Amino acid sequence: MKNIRIGHLYGNLMNTYGDNGNLLMLQHYAKEAGYQVETKIVSLGDDFLAEDYDLLFFGGGQDYEQKIVSQDLPRIRDEIALFIENDGVMLTICGGFQLLGQYYINAAGNRLEGMSILPHYTERQIDSRFIGDIEIYDEENDQTYYGFENHNGVTHLGSELKPLGRVIKGNGNNGVDQTEGVHYKNTFGSYFHGPLLVRNEWLARHIVDLAIQNK
Ligand code: GLN
Repeated sequence: MKNIRIGHLYGNLMNTYGDNGNLLMLQHYAKEAGYQVETKIVSLGDDFLAEDYDLLFFGGGQDYEQKIVSQDLPRIRDEIALFIENDGVMLTICGGFQLLGQYYINAAGNRLEGMSILPHYTERQIDSRFIGDIEIYDEENDQTYYGFENHNGVTHLGSELKPLGRVIKGNGNNGVDQTEGVHYKNTFGSYFHGPLLVRNEWLARHIVDLAIQNK
C-alpha cells in the first residue's frame, strides 16, 4: 500500500487541547484516498531529515514546554526550512505556529526564539488571553472555518505574509487586524483548536490532497 509519512514535531511535548485529533483526520482522509499513514514523533535530540516526510505537524503547547522545544529547534531548523521551501505540506497550531516565526514573548515576558522560517512574530498580552469561539473566512478557497482559540500570544504577520483567513468572529492573530493564522506555499498556521481539522473537513481533505499531489 502507498504511504504518507507524517512527522509529528515534538508530539510528546506540544499537544494541547486535543491538537492530536488533527492527526486522526489526516489518517482518515489519507486512508480513504488509498494511502497508509506512518506517523513518527520527532522530539528532543532526534535526527530529522526533511526528505523522510510527506507531511509535518507541529501542535500547540504551554509556555513551559514551548521553552524546552524552542531550545532544541535550531538543530532541525534548516531541514524544516528546506521542507517548506520545497512545497512540503506542513500544519502548525498555536504554539507551533508561533515558533515557525521569529520569536514568542511568553506570559512571563521571556523571549523564546522561533525558527524564523517565516517573518511573523508574537508578543504577549498582560494578564489576559484570547479565549473563545472563532470563525474565519478563507477568501482564496471560499471556505469558512470554525474553531476555538486560547492563547496569550498576539501575532503580527508583517506586510508580506497572507493569513489563513479573515476573522469574522473572535480575535485571531492579534485581535486588531482581523488576520488569523498564516498560509505560505503548502504551509499552514492557525490558532484554532477544536481540533482545526476535525471541525473543518474541507481543510483536512485539502491538506491530504496536497501531500498526495507532491508524491
Ligand atoms: N503558550 C502559547 C500562548 O499562550 C501557545 C498556547 C497554545 O499553543 N495553546 O500563546
